[in-house]
Amino acid sequence: MPSQTNVTTEALRTLHRIHRQLSDLRQRLRRGPNLLRAHQANVANREAELAKVQDETKAVRMAADRKQDQLKDGETRIAKLQQQLNGASSNREYQTLKEQIVAIEMTNSVLTDEILEGLEKIDQFKEKLAQSEATAVKAHQLAEKAEKEISQQEPLIRADIQRLEAELTEAEAGLPGDFRILYQRVVRAKGEDALAAVQGEFCGGCNQHIPINMVNDLMLSRPIFCKSCGRLLYLPENHSRG
Ligand SMILES: [Zn+2]
Repeated sequence: MPSQTNVTTEALRTLHRIHRQLSDLRQRLRRGPNLLRAHQANVANREAELAKVQDETKAVRMAADRKQDQLKDGETRIAKLQQQLNGASSNREYQTLKEQIVAIEMTNSVLTDEILEGLEKIDQFKEKLAQSEATAVKAHQLAEKAEKEISQQEPLIRADIQRLEAELTEAEAGLPGDFRILYQRVVRAKGEDALAAVQGEFCGGCNQHIPINMVNDLMLSRPIFCKSCGRLLYLPENHSRG
């Protein structure tokens, strides 16, 4: 680079600021759809979970209903047997009928216990169902809120990006032509990391030591690239001249 090329510290600071802001805004723009996808996945998971609990609840209810029907059948049969018992013509018939009744009564007793257990289970599932429903509703609400926020922010971010891109074009137009080519090359390769402020005697990008003669060159507004990382260096506002 010709030694007479001069780029002011102010111009480099401005360029770095714009690059950083642009990079930040573009990141925010990308984050929106990613966040939405995450919310949509969460909603889908909650819905699936809810559907599973609904199915389980239905199965428990149907099992309890089936047992209720069996119990009723048993009771009807006992009533019939009881009638037959009253009209029993022999002691043997009476005994047989009595044994049948006892057997059905035992079955019914087991069924009654199982039905009670089933009802308890249904109560538990009611709670589980309410929780799943609440969680699904909450997930929906959060997704809608995020979608609203993102759709509100997006045009603002895009407008900021446009404004900064115009600012960047203007700032770049002020660079000397021979230097601009080097600058553009490093910007294409590194984006916002194309520039770095000098921190004391070190590169703010890679922490490599910057020889004092290079710092002196910077003070004379001569553009300097870090020999280690290739970043375009500039002096920060708080830089003391020692
Ligand atoms: Zn460096």
